[in-house]
Amino acid sequence: VKDSICIGNDTLFSDENFCIIAGPCAVEDEQSLIATAELLRKHNVRMLRGGVNKMRTSPHSFQGLGESAAKMLNNVAREYGLYSVSEITCINEIDLIERYIDIALVGTRNMQNTPLLKELGKLQKPVILKRGMASTVQEWLLAAEYIRLGGNPQIILCERGIRTFEQCTRYTLDLASAVFVSQNYPYLVITDPSHATGNSSLVPPMVLASRAAGVNGCMIEIHLSPQTALCDGEQMLDFIQFEKLIEKLEGLQ
Ligand code: PEP
Ligand code: MN
Repeated sequence: VKDSICIGNDTLFSDENFCIIAGPCAVEDEQSLIATAELLRKHNVRMLRGGVNKMRTSPHSFQGLGESAAKMLNNVAREYGLYSVSEITCINEIDLIERYIDIALVGTRNMQNTPLLKELGKLQKPVILKRGMASTVQEWLLAAEYIRLGGNPQIILCERGIRTFEQCTRYTLDLASAVFVSQNYPYLVITDPSHATGNSSLVPPMVLASRAAGVNGCMIEIHLSPQTALCDGEQMLDFIQFEKLIEKLEGLQ
């Protein structure tokens, strides 16, 4: 049996249940974040994600609202009894995470940022370590070792899609590797079908597949109005799509 990841008395990740993290790609405004929090509460989803500082491929793309987004995420999470999940993009943001974020996320582009991983070893909060888009499982596990050896055992691994020759999806969800890691290593493993597929119509089937495959949860991007989202609109579920997916997951229990 693997160690659960808890905050206070709340068990957020464990071998026994399939946990969901949901929220927009980036925090955009308070109103839509509140609507998202209400939706999560309604369905007993405990973790609200939202990007604060975004690592965008293009410098012309929306970069995130920074500290004001972190404050907003924290306020809304507290108000609705949720836990906040957000990416730390560089060492300078440790203070921001300490102050406003419950669960730190290491994005795919930082999986081998070893100074950052060492710093997260000292953090007394859970860390979700995403797999590098061009990293092997072995490299991913070694990256996790940096955090663990630094003194932080609260690590969740997240398969978010890898680069392959295939172009019909944004990345390729390497579900078999996620299951391999889950079966052979002590870490809890989740998947991120949103970034892996880049396509909202592929997200529900890949969430259901992840659940059937026995991984420990999924991170899902959702938005009040994906068409007008400031980033990753093509992969975000709207609220109705999300509710349908949650109903399907509940039907499996
Ligand atoms: C994210 O989850 O906000 C994100 C940027 O994902 P990735 O690092 O997997 O691209
Ligand atoms: Mn995104």
